[in-house]
Amino acid sequence: MENEAATWCEVSGAHLAHNVRLFRRLLQPGTGLAAVVKANAYGHGVAQVVPVLEEVGVEMYAVHSLAEARQVQSCGATRPILIMGYVTPGQIAQMTEPTMHVLLSSRQVLQSLAARSAELGVSWPVHIKVDTGTHRQGVPPEEAADLARQAKEAGLSVVGVATHFANIEDTTDHSYAFEQLRRFRQALQRVERVTGQLPYVHAACSAAALLFRETDFSMVRLGISLYGHWPSRETYLSWLLAHGRDGIALKPALSWRTRIGQIKTVGAREPIGYGLSYRTTRTTQLAVLPVGYAEGYPRALSNRASVLVRGRRAPVLGRVCMNITMVDVTDIPEAEEGDIATLIGSDGEERVSAEELAELSGTINYEILARLSPALPRLLTHWPEQGQASI
Ligand SMILES: *Cc1c(COP(=O)(O)O)cnc(C)c1O
Repeated sequence: MENEAATWCEVSGAHLAHNVRLFRRLLQPGTGLAAVVKANAYGHGVAQVVPVLEEVGVEMYAVHSLAEARQVQSCGATRPILIMGYVTPGQIAQMTEPTMHVLLSSRQVLQSLAARSAELGVSWPVHIKVDTGTHRQGVPPEEAADLARQAKEAGLSVVGVATHFANIEDTTDHSYAFEQLRRFRQALQRVERVTGQLPYVHAACSAAALLFRETDFSMVRLGISLYGHWPSRETYLSWLLAHGRDGIALKPALSWRTRIGQIKTVGAREPIGYGLSYRTTRTTQLAVLPVGYAEGYPRALSNRASVLVRGRRAPVLGRVCMNITMVDVTDIPEAEEGDIATLIGSDGEERVSAEELAELSGTINYEILARLSPALPRLLTHWPEQGQASI
């Protein structure tokens, strides 16, 4: 690819489209899809992801903040955008876009939205957030109908009810999730007695959407798996237990690449990098990469991960620095300055996954992706083709 950048991410539109189509076939007919594009579309780039989703078709976008919602809108989103995180009274006082739905957890936000609605002469769309046991955002199930009534009376338009599961990704025992589901159904019934039937009823994240048809309701909120990743090993194992050996073919959409900035020969028994944390055991061909923890390559990968150069693994030597990482290319003698080094993704037969980097640095694939610096250039590769994906 002709590309002058030193470090960049490639995002496959075809893989994103493939993943969306997989879920279209998996979900019950009529279940809508909210694409969760918070954290710069899980590091993939809102500007790259939104046009693809517009092409493939989703029912809603979901983000954390008002600033993210505005960014999604400016990238051409034509579907409603649900703000799931806290919006301050000051932000609400400046909101002019009643195409942005708000996930309603608190009476203070309700009052600010009501005041703004009155000012603009609109009826702001809100979704009642029910805390069914995650003990994060939302009101307890027994207060949900009350919040809906207050919202209605204050002139807001209650268009949805939602909850979020606490314990699907970390276990193959889904009893807590089903208890949350039971509480949600109860709250939903009570809310709909106040509001009538609601168009947006949603509970499932990726893990639930992969595993349970019971949690479909009218919409699911898809994050990590939209981008082609399993939420966890346990989720994958649960799928295998339920479906036999065939996994659903999610396709990771992101690759992360950089270039070798310098190659040098370092003698045996020389220390490498800050803190002298690695000592060479042989004469070593060292490649210096212009990428580090400021770009999102975790410092915890020091002396642990490897990158791909010419289809082979080059181990990280010494500490990952803010913008620089050193790797061992002694066993890849053809390596040259300017060569591409793959931090995440495939090169030839070899592959480094976000999951591998997560495991080596003591975190989860979500964090590896979400912390990819927004300053990295993103290239959209492979515009989606028409047609159906196969599971
Ligand atoms: C981030 C988020 C999601 C998406 O979760 P995934 O596991 O990435 O699919 C769904 N719902 C809420 C409330 C979230 O914050």
